[in-house]
Amino acid sequence: MKQVLLGSSDLKVGAIAYGCWRFANSSLQEADTKIRTALEAGLTLIDTADIYGLGDMRGFGGSEEVLGEVLKASPDLRDKMVIATKGGIDAVRPYDSTYDYLMTAMDKSLARLKTDYVDIYQIHRPDITTPMAETARALDEMVKTGKTKYIGVSNFTVAQTRALQAHLGTKIITTQPEFSALHQYPITDGTLDWCQENTATALAWSPLARGRVFSESGIVIDALDTLAKRYDAPRGHIALAFTMGHGANVIPIIGTQKTERIVDSAKALNIPLTARDFYDIVEAFRGEKMP
Ligand code: NAP
Repeated sequence: MKQVLLGSSDLKVGAIAYGCWRFANSSLQEADTKIRTALEAGLTLIDTADIYGLGDMRGFGGSEEVLGEVLKASPDLRDKMVIATKGGIDAVRPYDSTYDYLMTAMDKSLARLKTDYVDIYQIHRPDITTPMAETARALDEMVKTGKTKYIGVSNFTVAQTRALQAHLGTKIITTQPEFSALHQYPITDGTLDWCQENTATALAWSPLARGRVFSESGIVIDALDTLAKRYDAPRGHIALAFTMGHGANVIPIIGTQKTERIVDSAKALNIPLTARDFYDIVEAFRGEKMP
């Protein structure tokens, strides 16, 4: 699979990433198969979060826990993947980016993942009650002590990202917004421009709109289907290609639990989506022609 550098870092990953939100109900055997399938198909960025698993069989931490079990059974897999995890949601408060909370959350994530370090630690959602300077102090310490190589944010506005960056001793390398053909706001809210301004990478969560790309109808779906027909490809490939068609070089994080769909996703990279095709999907979403 095509390799891309994450932001200004030295981390090279596949152009499509694999997400573990829906992963916590997997048995060790199933989790092992999904992770190996993703890595072999070239999806080497594995995105997870401490809260993934809440409401599932294993509860809070469940997704990290089962990934950790996979790594414990096969330690050789650790070097084959770039792990991006997240912390900062405690489900009750509901967001906590205080120094004490994050430092403890990080240690718990490392213990569950059975690894000494993660590659990217992301603040899952902004905690607007905690000063950015305090959050930055925790993140800087995580980098200094080697618990994470790099820092990322998720669901941050551009202004929140800048405010955190102003207090950080290290560059934020990734931002994780929701982005898909059915949710195009990062194009207009400045997120993808901030990425290009700062040589950062956007990791698009739910690039297939949590599966709504397959279950909905409407103008955007019609636009995807017109292109699907033109390129003799499934609608899902066009939708994934769309997320990769923006000039910011976005990495979509897919979340299927079906191994054949993990492998199949790589074919989205073969769709020769043109700028005109991309604008067709943008215009369908906006309900009007580009001015
Ligand atoms: P997604 O890839 O947009 O959606 C996955 C859903 O689409 C699954 O239910 C999957 O079902 C279905 N699907 C995929 N291919 C399909 C097909 N060909 N036909 C019909 N259904 C299909 O992504 P997501 O799972 O919502 O999220 C992906 C990742 O983004 C997560 O794992 C997580 O890492 C990240 N995320 C981050 C945040 C955040 O706040 N930062 C929030 C949400 C997600 P099957 O499993 O049956 O294939």
